[in-house]
Amino acid sequence: MSNVNGKTSVVGIIGSPIQHTLSPIMQNAAFAASLLNYVYIPFLVRPDNLEQAVVGLKALGVCGFNVTIPHKTAIIPFLDRLDESAESAGAVNTVKLCGTSLIGYNTDGDGLVDSLSRDLDFLPGAEQILVLGAGGAARGAIAALCRSGAKKIVVCNRSLENALILMNDMKVRYRETCIEVIDQNQLSCECLGLTSLLLNTTPLGMNGERIEGINLSNFPEHAKVYDMVYSCSTTPLVKESSEYGFRAVNGLGMLVAQGERGFEIWTGQKPPEDVMRKALMR
Ligand code: NAP
Repeated sequence: MSNVNGKTSVVGIIGSPIQHTLSPIMQNAAFAASLLNYVYIPFLVRPDNLEQAVVGLKALGVCGFNVTIPHKTAIIPFLDRLDESAESAGAVNTVKLCGTSLIGYNTDGDGLVDSLSRDLDFLPGAEQILVLGAGGAARGAIAALCRSGAKKIVVCNRSLENALILMNDMKVRYRETCIEVIDQNQLSCECLGLTSLLLNTTPLGMNGERIEGINLSNFPEHAKVYDMVYSCSTTPLVKESSEYGFRAVNGLGMLVAQGERGFEIWTGQKPPEDVMRKALMR
């Protein structure tokens, strides 16, 4: 920040609340390590001010910005164009100003796929993926998994209706992937026994809650577990899965990877390896 001058490019994040965001730490560390004259700033934007804030950021000529709760879907009408990643997820977490156009992207899903590869050596393919949850994070994740070659995805959610809506939206777009919905009470040994990746996209675990109704002993030995929750390093799901001998990680790697993709969208270059993760760990 001490080097901010007349040529500094501005990026930031809009959300409400915003005080908890870790993105400025990651992004400013990566800009500094790359010797790029950029600065990343958090902006508290309340829902009533969203349109004005977007118009204002455009008028100020920022390079782009991240979008977080509660604006990921609400921002769509105020953008000029959506990338496939945002259109398929129905949500935007990254915006780039190109000339006079604001383009919306969603780097959460592709960030998950990056992290699955990096942190769990899991590449989407023929193996069955069981997704818990059907909210915004699940949408981005499932769309990215389909684009990356996943052949079989089973969705299990508290509200069956929301899972069915998500399934139908994805089936229209991604015909190569078999997507099924299963009721919470019908998670059979057979379904779990065929699962190679368990993906938690619900907030369960953020406050130490266990995920009920999943008997980890029914998963095959080679199964891997990814918990999108990153508020604590060992979530209850990660802890229990590790005790069963499964490779399991929390969502920190996804947070880093979505940020790395945002950095590349804004600057046109890849961030230096591992700088964002190390900044977060510190
Ligand atoms: P969301 O849109 O509100 O969706 C939440 C989903 O979880 C819904 O399907 C909801 O079910 C289900 N759910 C909520 N509370 C539940 C409970 N008590 N028991 C069972 N199911 C419950 O939220 P989101 O944006 O998808 O975010 C979900 C989680 O992903 C959050 O913890 C967020 O921090 C995390 N996340 C992590 C990253 C990362 O970079 N690691 C990125 C994005 C999100 P219903 O449909 O029945 O309401």
